[in-house]
Amino acid sequence: MPCPGSNCVDGITWYSPNFTQPGEFTFCEECYNQFVRITPLIVYMLIFVFHIGNCDFSSNVKQQWLIAVSKNDINIFREYVEPKLGRNKPCPGSNFVDGITFYSPNFTQPGEFTFCEECYNQFVRITPLNVYMRNDGIHNGNCDFSSNVKQQWLIAVSKNDINIFREYVEPKLGRNKPCPGSNFVDGITFYSPNFTQPGEFTLCEECYNQFVRNTPLSVYMQSIESQSGNCDFSSNVKQQWLIAVSRNDINIFKGYVETKLEHIRGLRDRAARLQVSLSQELQRKQFLITSQHNYRIMANIDNISLGGDEPSYEYSFNGSRYNSSSNVEAARIQIQIDESSRIFNNYLAELRLLEHEIANLWY
Ligand SMILES: [Zn+2]
Ligand SMILES: [Zn+2]
Ligand SMILES: [Zn+2]
Repeated sequence: MPCPGSNCVDGITWYSPNFTQPGEFTFCEECYNQFVRITPLIVYMLIFVFHIGNCDFSSNVKQQWLIAVSKNDINIFREYVEPKLGRNKPCPGSNFVDGITFYSPNFTQPGEFTFCEECYNQFVRITPLNVYMRNDGIHNGNCDFSSNVKQQWLIAVSKNDINIFREYVEPKLGRNKPCPGSNFVDGITFYSPNFTQPGEFTLCEECYNQFVRNTPLSVYMQSIESQSGNCDFSSNVKQQWLIAVSRNDINIFKGYVETKLEHIRGLRDRAARLQVSLSQELQRKQFLITSQHNYRIMANIDNISLGGDEPSYEYSFNGSRYNSSSNVEAARIQIQIDESSRIFNNYLAELRLLEHEIANLWY
């Protein structure tokens, strides 16, 4: 029977390479007899008896086959045939490969967490959570869809809740929270030198990982309980730390930090004394306001008992005229109240400056 070419026929014997699945790639008995039977590569061919089909042994295929035969290398043929089978490439697992389509969850950055087309087709495509996946196109990479990841994905799918998957994946992305600098933040790990008191000097996880973790001096740093704070590891501090690391001498860093801490303690003492002065000044002002109020009541009483508008005496004070000595006292106290307000505001301004200086001391 002649080769049916691309026409579908029944009742003939078909052959396939042994690296294909049934029906993926077939060729007819005539082509087999002509091009395969007498070659050493015949061992890679399988026979199919009951099969309706056509012959895929086109002239292009034939050419590749003949090259493979001439070099006695089935892989030449295999590498030509396989990409034409419309199969998905197998999951590369942790191996880095090129030329397959990758997908990512839409809550990750490109390249942070990728999985291959095959895993997408098998586990993602037909689930409602596929809306959370992004097609990153064809690029090189590996597949992060390990069996553990798969398990979490399947749980998330079964509960129709992407957050289950997200909460599993995100901590594994190796993202560090950025250094907060002098800003107060919550929810990151802080470290302190073991020669300081709690809260005196802290550095953030990111700075720790970048500058401390892999140095011999890391033994002098410890993580602290509190997850809130700011990072004192300014560029000045960093410089001292790097010098200390380069000489493998913690005392260089310790000396620098302790000198600063000494200065901070001085500033804190001054701030505490200012707080006391502030509250004392506030008390004095309140006392003055009460006294002034009392004198004003007394002045009213004087006015009434003297019988109204015609004062018998006039008092002059500070360039003004008053009809009673109580009013003069009230005016005198007003001067003291104004003076007290001025002192209070000066203390407050000084305290604000100190607080600012303390907050920025490492910067
Ligand atoms: Zn044929
Ligand atoms: Zn995969
Ligand atoms: Zn930091």
